[in-house]
Amino acid sequence: MTEDGYNPYEMAQEQFDRIAEKLNLDEGLKDLLREPIREYHFNLPVKMDDGSTKVFRAFRVQHNDALGPCKGGIRFHPEETVDTVRALAMWMTWKTAVADIPLGGGKGGVICDPHDLSDREEENICREYIRAINQNIGPLRDVPAPDVMTSAQHMLWMMDEYETIQGEKYPGVITGKPQDMGGSKGRTEATGYGVIYVLRELLKELDRDIKDTVASIQGFGNVAQYAAELFIEYGGTVVSVSCWDQEDKKAYSYYKEDGIDLEELRSITDRFGSIDKEKAKEKGYERLPGEDWLKHEVDVLIPAALENAITEDNVGEIPSAVDMIVSGANGPITPEADEVLEDRDMIVVPDFLANAGGVTCSYFEQVQSNQNYYWPKEEVLGKLDNSMTSAFYEVWDLAQRKNVRMRDAAYMIAIQRVAEACEARGWV
Ligand code: NAD
Repeated sequence: MTEDGYNPYEMAQEQFDRIAEKLNLDEGLKDLLREPIREYHFNLPVKMDDGSTKVFRAFRVQHNDALGPCKGGIRFHPEETVDTVRALAMWMTWKTAVADIPLGGGKGGVICDPHDLSDREEENICREYIRAINQNIGPLRDVPAPDVMTSAQHMLWMMDEYETIQGEKYPGVITGKPQDMGGSKGRTEATGYGVIYVLRELLKELDRDIKDTVASIQGFGNVAQYAAELFIEYGGTVVSVSCWDQEDKKAYSYYKEDGIDLEELRSITDRFGSIDKEKAKEKGYERLPGEDWLKHEVDVLIPAALENAITEDNVGEIPSAVDMIVSGANGPITPEADEVLEDRDMIVVPDFLANAGGVTCSYFEQVQSNQNYYWPKEEVLGKLDNSMTSAFYEVWDLAQRKNVRMRDAAYMIAIQRVAEACEARGWV
């Protein structure tokens, strides 16, 4: 359960149940798909800089691997719960399936706050995590990646620990590595760019010009920054971004009517995606409460921070001008809020389609690492664009044909693919 009372795992299961009913899934298959096939819980004893040992609770959840090895990030967050990890693992199963890549769904998490840790302590957590899980991951089993508050450096420490234990090199054991250490070119940009490839196609279908489109983005981390980058490159305007402020322990949004200057904001943002509030003020940004990100008169909202951003409490504050939501974050809309959005005919591109660029590029990284052959950035981004565009149209076309919302169409495609793989393997 998160602080605000929403349980993402219950949310993920509700979403699944609704579509499983529509697809008339076999009972056994339903039981198999509504829960993870395996999960691991650890207490990691970690040496701290002051010589003490601190124990961190950690998880790895493997939701389903019928389509291929599990895939999913490892999140460092003080409010991480096993249910959040379960939900995220389940959404990874649907994400890899809708993106049509031969991987299953997994996710990991460590309950910790990197703001309070030194680099050495973070390295110790990474190595300890791999000591705990190394028997149960691997290029053909489960391949972790970065997520909230984990980076390429964390992935490199984890890969190094895995290789030390195995006594061999395994560049394909983890993705999101630094580029000069087997990471794929384009991986850093992939999730945010993928969000915008999908938005670009949506606007084409609606016969609207991206150059006349205004967005408000929640978050200013990896996904938000690269979504803003490509959107602005295509000619769109971002009027607001938001972030967590560690000092004040609350979120702020930063607004500029004419549009943000991305490089200017990046230059005053730390590695956690938090903008320096004093410097932002000097540069003319209006600082507003974090929740104001969804109150602006824009065309599109891009939630790109954490889950449960749009709830029944704040959904009514979205102005009528907004008619599209493209979900960069995982699980940003609660089911109650989604019902209100449905009544409003809001076009919602669901998270596991819109943010599938990250896992698609991670898959490309796995392919490159396993072959020890690396592609140029243009090739990676070109393949990514093709893959996101075709996933978008599969979902869009089904939604039009069946007269259902994009979320339902995406779920139908994903669940059907995983169900067929389970059946073909003879699991049910
Ligand atoms: P990140 O850690 O780089 O950035 C998170 C951002 O959210 C930061 O700017 C932080 O300040 C901000 N934030 C945190 N709490 C907030 C709040 N209450 N209000 C406003 N802003 C807040 O993380 P990221 O990698 O950009 O991931 C963002 C979301 O996208 C997560 O839901 C993640 O699971 C999802 N996602 C990430 C990837 C990826 O490749 N990074 C892929 C798919 C999905």
